[in-house]
Amino acid sequence: MTSAVIVGGGPNGLAAAALLAKAGLEVTLLEAADEIGGGTRSHEAIVPGLLHDHCSAIHPMAVTSPALRSLDLQQHGLRWKLADVDCVHPLDDGSAGVLLRSVEDTARMLGADGNRYRRLLEPSVSRWDALSEDVMGPLLRIPSHPLLLARFGLPTTLPAGLLARFFSTPQAQALWAGVAAHSFRPLSHPLSSAVGLGILTAGHAAGWAVAEGGSQAIARSLEHVLRAHGGRVHTGVRITHHAQIPPADVTLLDLDPAQIAHIYQDRLPGRVRRAYGRFRRGPAAFKVDLAVEQGVPWTSEPARRAGTVHLGGTLAEVAQAERDVNNGRMPERPFVLVGQQYLADPTRSVGDVHPVWAYAHVPHGYGGDVTAAVIDQLERFAPGTRDRIIGTHTTTPAEFAATNPNFAGGDILTGAKTVPQLVLGARPTLDPYSTALPGVFCCSAATPPGPGAHGMCGAGAAASALRHLRLASR
Ligand SMILES: Cc1cc2nc3c(=O)[nH]c(=O)nc-3n(C[C@H](O)[C@H](O)[C@H](O)COP(=O)(O)OP(=O)(O)OC[C@H]3O[C@@H](n4cnc5c(N)ncnc54)[C@H](O)[C@@H]3O)c2cc1C
Repeated sequence: MTSAVIVGGGPNGLAAAALLAKAGLEVTLLEAADEIGGGTRSHEAIVPGLLHDHCSAIHPMAVTSPALRSLDLQQHGLRWKLADVDCVHPLDDGSAGVLLRSVEDTARMLGADGNRYRRLLEPSVSRWDALSEDVMGPLLRIPSHPLLLARFGLPTTLPAGLLARFFSTPQAQALWAGVAAHSFRPLSHPLSSAVGLGILTAGHAAGWAVAEGGSQAIARSLEHVLRAHGGRVHTGVRITHHAQIPPADVTLLDLDPAQIAHIYQDRLPGRVRRAYGRFRRGPAAFKVDLAVEQGVPWTSEPARRAGTVHLGGTLAEVAQAERDVNNGRMPERPFVLVGQQYLADPTRSVGDVHPVWAYAHVPHGYGGDVTAAVIDQLERFAPGTRDRIIGTHTTTPAEFAATNPNFAGGDILTGAKTVPQLVLGARPTLDPYSTALPGVFCCSAATPPGPGAHGMCGAGAAASALRHLRLASR
């Protein structure tokens, strides 16, 4: 039987493993941690029974992911849940940019900018099912829907700050800036609109969903598929040298390029080693999980019903904060993403105590404590929050890196979203999953389409591995 070894059990490693097992391979997955899941794990960090997502929380790209859909995860225990309101970006005057499920309803909320919003999003949202196959894979290939991709792709090339000028109201501009800031890039840089437009389009197509029972449910459902097809999982196995990896017909690495270079050392061709050595890391996350009695008392009413709230003030303020963290400076008022997953999934709360998930954008490797700055941003848009907090749990950039080297320096995107890395992944090649070692592939978020718990990097690498096996058997 043809065999595959997967190193790393994050959503991409698990998706690759499940897809290869489903294709008939004998699959073994090796995971360094004591549990699988990588960026899709959940834990009771503060109060027994109160469930916090360790990393990924909100999943507009996962619900519509062709890879996850093809695995029929609902049959394996995964339930997607939606809050009333997808995302809110409050401003100091009490107003807010509000993102609702449908483009039409969002356009209505955006008033004077409604028509422009509709014109920007509607054509891609209505065809997202077809478009997602092209957008959520390697960009250097012949697209299945070239005209649709061109229509979607044109605005993504613009700096997000420039695209913001398409809108005239501070609410629409701030809402756009907050979504664009998910790329951790300066909003003045080319292609800094790409991640934001992808999230908005997928979000309107399927919602900013959370997994019932925590993001760990995504990993568990993938593991369930893998085991149903005879796959094996070994946890507590950290690979530091290629000699530790059992022989197999194909090996897929859910690892960042630096680890792959370290594990394979001189076996990697020099050009690949050098490319992996040049791989650039981005700014970091400083995470603050909170246990909040009665939830956050937002001034903005829609924020009280929103799964995600972006705290960063105006477009200019968000742009400055992102510029700062990219230049290694800690802003006084960082951009903060807040998740209220319990609104969609009440099973995560304990009575009237609710888990609130938040992280600030900070410089790469930042060593300071940002807890107070995160709580200040909450107080700014929800006075009285501080008095409702009954416990906090922080994860620093160094702690992210220590638990998972894919998040080196606290860079939770597994690589800066610079133009070359966004388009090509870790190195310039037609197969971005290839390591140039026959039968050895990279399947982590360092490869296209990049970060997120959508499993599409794993699916791309699994497809490359199957192609390699077909060619080898000729
Ligand atoms: C704070 C935070 C918030 C986020 N929010 C979201 C969100 O809301 N929505 C979203 O879609 N995404 C979000 N993400 C990003 C998402 O979690 C990642 O992009 C995703 O997990 C990447 O998946 P992966 O499989 O490539 O790698 P990972 O999830 O990093 O998994 C890699 C796995 O490999 C294991 N491993 C590493 N080295 C070795 C080794 N040497 N030997 C064996 N095993 C090894 C690790 O332990 C880990 O389990 C967030 C991430 C963080 C940290």
